[in-house]
Amino acid sequence: MIMDKKIFENKVVPYEMVLNSISSTRELVERILPEGEIESLKIGAKAIEEVIKGAVEKANDGLPVIGHHFAFQREYLYCFDCVPICVEGTSYLLSALLPDGVEKFYDVMLSWGHPFHTCTSQKGVMGMTLEDLFKFDAIITPTAPCDNTFASYPFFEYKDIPLVIPDIPYLHEKKSYEYYGQQLKLSLNKLGQIIGQEPDFERMKKHIEIENKIHAIQLELFELRKAKPCPVENMFNAISAGVSVFASGTSEKLEFYEKYLEIAKQRYKNKSEYGKEEKIRSIWPYMLIFFDLSLCEYLDREIGMSVLFDIFNYNFSNPINTKEDLDTLFYDMARRGMNFPMMKESTEFYYPFIENCVQLAKDFSADCFVFTSHLGCKQFGSVPQVLREALREEVGIPMLIIDLDVGDKRFTSTKIIKDKINMFSKTIL
Ligand code: SF4
Repeated sequence: MIMDKKIFENKVVPYEMVLNSISSTRELVERILPEGEIESLKIGAKAIEEVIKGAVEKANDGLPVIGHHFAFQREYLYCFDCVPICVEGTSYLLSALLPDGVEKFYDVMLSWGHPFHTCTSQKGVMGMTLEDLFKFDAIITPTAPCDNTFASYPFFEYKDIPLVIPDIPYLHEKKSYEYYGQQLKLSLNKLGQIIGQEPDFERMKKHIEIENKIHAIQLELFELRKAKPCPVENMFNAISAGVSVFASGTSEKLEFYEKYLEIAKQRYKNKSEYGKEEKIRSIWPYMLIFFDLSLCEYLDREIGMSVLFDIFNYNFSNPINTKEDLDTLFYDMARRGMNFPMMKESTEFYYPFIENCVQLAKDFSADCFVFTSHLGCKQFGSVPQVLREALREEVGIPMLIIDLDVGDKRFTSTKIIKDKINMFSKTIL
């Protein structure tokens, strides 16, 4: 038994780093923050810590470690007895938690010959894998949402890690969901052959059903954000994205949402402000900045700018029908996958995205948009200007565009970002 442990330990060193840093963050915020302050961080850190702790133990017990793209739903991997690890989530959570970020690993990949302008969400874990800190038994990634994904993942084969790649079609319609559903089933069967397990779809359904329950709470929280002042603190956007990536399909994630809904309802009833008085209601249609999440608090407390939601907090695909046959199940799983945040926006023509943004601005009484134009997302490069014009013409509100790398502070520093937002906010007030 001791021999077995020796063989399997050190397969998930960065996950142990996540565990250590999230545990100390949780302990710190629980001890020093008064009640009512960054509640999302308190309960979210606990949820992530519990799930990661279990994952590290299972990896050390020898269960297969399966890397997955964030756009491949983690709960689908519960058809196996395995340790699912999100490539993009791990890079960016460590970028947020470690004092020096994960720039070292981006540079490792750069020295190896990987282009500097690819997405840092993948490059972090790629560098960690090159340094043998992660030892994946297999990796699964769809062919979307971006060229980075498709072009970067083959690197893992260089480390002899088998890749399973379900193909994503372009159009969002019935025949596409049928096709992607078949791809999902084939891919899970292939993954099972690689790790020597039969997929257990009954077990997977139980985890999908947890996500179905969470969906209802997400919609309720979304609706609450229409209120003035917004009863959801800015940090919730970042933490809920983290909980989604690390704890999808688990009771910990459900508990996180249930607890936070109560907090938001209470604030809504009391019309209580979070931080400073809400002066500006902003929508961030793309990502937040992961290398410095304190920006969320800065906006709440120093500027009075609410981030009503970011890309991970306004796309909610319909629940999955788990009561019918397998074809129905996989059809719904495919529809959920193709309508996942960033997957939806990046695999379609941009008209629905623009129309959606205009509608959201009206429904949520937004004063402005802030668009983080991430270096990696080439497929989104042309959208900001078109969106800015649409918002100006259709809603009469401005949009700030910030060119940056959301995971690498060396491109655009926190100071520059704060200065830009500060100046922009003065033009609105
Ligand atoms: S869509 Fe953009 S942020 Fe998402 S993985 Fe691709 S390059 Fe990175």
